[in-house]
Amino acid sequence: MSDLRPNSEIAEGIHWIKDIYVNAYIVESGEDLILIDSGFNKKAKPILNYIREELESRNIKKILLTHHHADHVGGLHHLHNHLHTRIFSSEQDALYIKGEMKRPPPNNFILKPLYYILRPLITPKPVTQIEYVAEGEIIEDENDVGFEVHSLPGHTMGSLGFLKNNVLFSGDAGVSKEGDVELGVKLFAENMNVARASLVKMSKLKFDLLLSGHGTPILEDAQQRALEAVERLGLDEDLFEE
Ligand SMILES: [Zn+2]
Repeated sequence: MSDLRPNSEIAEGIHWIKDIYVNAYIVESGEDLILIDSGFNKKAKPILNYIREELESRNIKKILLTHHHADHVGGLHHLHNHLHTRIFSSEQDALYIKGEMKRPPPNNFILKPLYYILRPLITPKPVTQIEYVAEGEIIEDENDVGFEVHSLPGHTMGSLGFLKNNVLFSGDAGVSKEGDVELGVKLFAENMNVARASLVKMSKLKFDLLLSGHGTPILEDAQQRALEAVERLGLDEDLFEE
């Protein structure tokens, strides 16, 4: 697509919202909207502004969360409180989103102590009403095919991907970078080996568009880019077999 830019409709009924450096996506569902992740901003400003300006202030009826990291769930508390939206995540990542467990520190010995000092300030307000979904389940879209849930752990141990038609919302399990697919950043990854295995798993799903948590969406041949990443990173499947 020639004029691919954030805060626009990038595929039919799918809108890309960029909140500083993290992506959220809005999927139209009849008169309603379904949100993939809730951005960084605590008041979900970029998302709500866009919906007001471009989508006639339509109602967000579901929020699907790829993982618990603060930059992906920042607006959740605000949206949930104001709109009473249904929220879906993995049971594992819900522990953090609900505030039952504290988010782990970054994998960097210099940043770690700083993180412990800042954590109270940067931790999003917990949201407790979460519906758990797992591998193989479908989150319904009453007006279209639903979202297939795929477990893609590693970046966080409860990371999920959502596949709808030929579109994969991958969170940080596999992210786009200059047209290629990469692993999510190591700094906040919970288990890189598991993440590598998940990238192999992801590369076998059937999708053409990759809408990831960071980077510019890939709008064609995205599965091919994922297969190339597996090759480039030397992620031989045998590495992961028990
Ligand atoms: Zn993340």
